[in-house]
Amino acid sequence: MSDSEVRANVHRVIDERSESHLQDLCTLVAQPSISAHDEGVKECAQLLADMMKKRGIAAEVIPTPGQPVVYGELIEDPNAFTLLCYGHYDVQPTDPLDLWESPPFEPTLRDGRLYGRGTGDNKGQLIAHVFAASAWKEVAGRVPINLKFVFEGEEESGSPNLGHFVREHKDRLACDLVYISDGGLHPSGDPVISLGNRGVVGITMVAEGADRDNHSGNKGGVVPNPVWMLTHLLATMVDPEGNVLIDGFYDDVRPITEVETDLVARLPFDPVEFGQTMGVPRVEYSQQEYYQRIMLKPYFNISGISSGYVGPGSKTIIPATAECRIDVRMVADQRTADIVEKVKRHAAAVDPRVRVIAGGMGAMEPSRTAPDHPAVPAVARALEEVHGTPAHINASGGGSLPNAVWPGILGTSHIGAPYANADENNHSPNENLAVDCFHRGIHASAEVFWHLGQMAEDA
Ligand SMILES: [Zn+2]
Repeated sequence: MSDSEVRANVHRVIDERSESHLQDLCTLVAQPSISAHDEGVKECAQLLADMMKKRGIAAEVIPTPGQPVVYGELIEDPNAFTLLCYGHYDVQPTDPLDLWESPPFEPTLRDGRLYGRGTGDNKGQLIAHVFAASAWKEVAGRVPINLKFVFEGEEESGSPNLGHFVREHKDRLACDLVYISDGGLHPSGDPVISLGNRGVVGITMVAEGADRDNHSGNKGGVVPNPVWMLTHLLATMVDPEGNVLIDGFYDDVRPITEVETDLVARLPFDPVEFGQTMGVPRVEYSQQEYYQRIMLKPYFNISGISSGYVGPGSKTIIPATAECRIDVRMVADQRTADIVEKVKRHAAAVDPRVRVIAGGMGAMEPSRTAPDHPAVPAVARALEEVHGTPAHINASGGGSLPNAVWPGILGTSHIGAPYANADENNHSPNENLAVDCFHRGIHASAEVFWHLGQMAEDA
């Protein structure tokens, strides 16, 4: 058989197995695996490992101090290109339950979509890699590259042990590229490639005045007001345009390259339509600025502020305390510990009465793969082959993922290509995965394996 016949047969087999693929996904979704509540996660790990073993993948459940990692390998040739597929089999909690049209752990088909918690995020996407590998095995007797699978059980809880796991198994996890399918396609259905993610760190600031609320008439002018302390301090941290004024904040921000600017220029942009998805009349930035601001530049966010009295009527007090929550969205190569240190130093210099406390949410480091990485065109070709339309290449995602462990510990770049429909309702009631997106994802993984193998051969 010629290469193209083999490839065609792989895709034919994937189509022929579509019923059993969907059945297996239902089995996986029916097993709850809520890491936040430690509900069913270990059972799901075992189920997933068994499913992989059944398909000829050497799989095992490796414990961590938290939830286990399901690890699998298909080594065809120790010298061949090795791809590590990362995914997570844990899911978000299901509440509010009454908003689900069918129970979250009873996978249900409606209008071409499979509904259930974890269908899109991330069981239906991680298993696509497994089914694709299995189809290659069946048709060609081997996969065109070596595969390693790391399926994590606590991504939805901030991946507290992933770094430790990767460090501990560094040699075993050695690979040439990490591939992640999580999240949704472009709303148009076009494929997307994501080359990075912003990091995030949470910071709480607490200002304390007197040990009780005071009468603002009788004591106004002699008792310190913590709201003023906090707002004065905050105003020294960020200017009205959003520029961060903290000394050294931008020191490690990786300059935006020409290639990245060029990629951004090719992304779709409609200021009115995009504005409406955010609840504002229109986006007030140019296309280039809009994408740079959400992908390639840091953002210092105030997510909440609380003090005093804002109930009905009035209460003329000098509040005793004021508190605000910050989340800093960082970009490569900023580091969470360094940013926290700089915020603390700034606060101490401006108003030492305000306490700055880091944490309160899982911190994640930013990470970015260079757009001229040789695997980018290979993955792009694979996706275009399956979708019939070129992929949008995001120089980075805006949100945060635990991807920094790959370059940070393994020294390996990562590429993301989501398979779910854009409206998968991940983290929400009625989470779903369009069945055609699921099948296309399996085809996409099969093509990615092929194109990466070709790339390595041509190199
Ligand atoms: Zn998620």
